[in-house]
Amino acid sequence: MKKISILGATGSIGTQAIEVLKNNRDRFELESMSIGRNTTRLHEILASVTPKMVSVMDDGDRKSLEARYPTITFVSGEDGLQAVAADDSDMLLTAVMGSIGLPPTLTAIENGKDIALANKETLVAAGEIVMDKAREHDVQIIPVDSEHSAIFQCMRGESPSEIKRLIITASGGSFRDLSRDELHDVTLADALNHPNWAMGRKITIDSATMMNKGLEVIEAKWLFDLEVDRISTLLHRESTIHSMVEFVDNSIIAQLGNSDMKGPIQFAFSHPERLAMDNPLDFDTLTQLNFKPMDFERFRMLKLAYEAVEIGGTMPAVMNASNEYAVDRFLKGEISFLDIEKIVELRMNGHEVIDEPDLETILYYDEIFKSDMR
Ligand code: NDP
Ligand code: MG
Repeated sequence: MKKISILGATGSIGTQAIEVLKNNRDRFELESMSIGRNTTRLHEILASVTPKMVSVMDDGDRKSLEARYPTITFVSGEDGLQAVAADDSDMLLTAVMGSIGLPPTLTAIENGKDIALANKETLVAAGEIVMDKAREHDVQIIPVDSEHSAIFQCMRGESPSEIKRLIITASGGSFRDLSRDELHDVTLADALNHPNWAMGRKITIDSATMMNKGLEVIEAKWLFDLEVDRISTLLHRESTIHSMVEFVDNSIIAQLGNSDMKGPIQFAFSHPERLAMDNPLDFDTLTQLNFKPMDFERFRMLKLAYEAVEIGGTMPAVMNASNEYAVDRFLKGEISFLDIEKIVELRMNGHEVIDEPDLETILYYDEIFKSDMR
């Protein structure tokens, strides 16, 4: 039995991961998990699985849960996340939202656990530190993000030296058919209405701004050890091709499937094996695949992300934290959709980059730029 723990079990990825575990009870068991504040969902999860330990955000929640579930150990706060990261599992699925996932991911690596990585913000903020630590402790980082899972699958058995470039596909998000002018009046409800994927609120907004693709380019740089000039993006509205790899002989390998995150989650858990699944691609209803070159003027956030990674140092972490801050304000109804990119750009422009930052420096800027304090 492979023991798996989950950070962010109540989220979109976390919920689907629990389904994958339940569908493969002979293979995987849930060792421990963390949630934020959604205790209603937690009760539903605990009706069908019994982990040894659960971390919650609030200490008040911890106390009431302890009384209700005496066989489970409850922990809380950031220490709670650390406790889950340091448990006895073989693999940690990082599915919290945002750079809060960085410290526990590093702890899990130090404890020799393989990482199933959904939490892309961790690699954007501190990719070099995370990947160096993974090499040092000989742990595998298996991507869960669908594009990166696709690339990982396309590269199995291929020589990295024969790769010409990665082609990351992008659905275009909720506003893909609107011009920039038409973005002035869009609402939060419009932005949360993603055409292809049902995901958490923050990543759904990131998809609409195209920052999600920017984060994914940086994520791919670190996961696959490639410079970003060899990582391209392509609009593909069906999201059927999850991504592709082009090799030096111009041959391209693509991975296709339905828009169902259970595929990449299960593959990360079972790798190097493949396990059977339901929900296959149906070629009776799939009649065409469309492609369009990425428009960097229309989707300026993607351009910003390429700039951030070219500048390097603390800039990607600052971009990520500024984006988390701005998206949070948009989700609260405090700013308009186009204000998100204005805030990110302004904050990046005002930042004096520190080269080769250590973890403390990254966490310091992460905190500052995620707040109003800046
Ligand atoms: P959700 O918002 O649906 O879930 C986030 C999870 O993190 C919830 O369990 C939430 O707890 C918990 N959480 C949030 N803030 C904190 C905090 N401060 N401390 C502890 N726990 C916290 O996000 P998604 O599942 O959509 O995304 C998770 C990650 O996976 C993101 O990095 C995203 O980019 C990535 N990803 C997601 C995809 C998707 O399809 N959803 C696809 C590819 C990548 P609670 O709800 O209990 O408060
Ligand atoms: Mg993705």
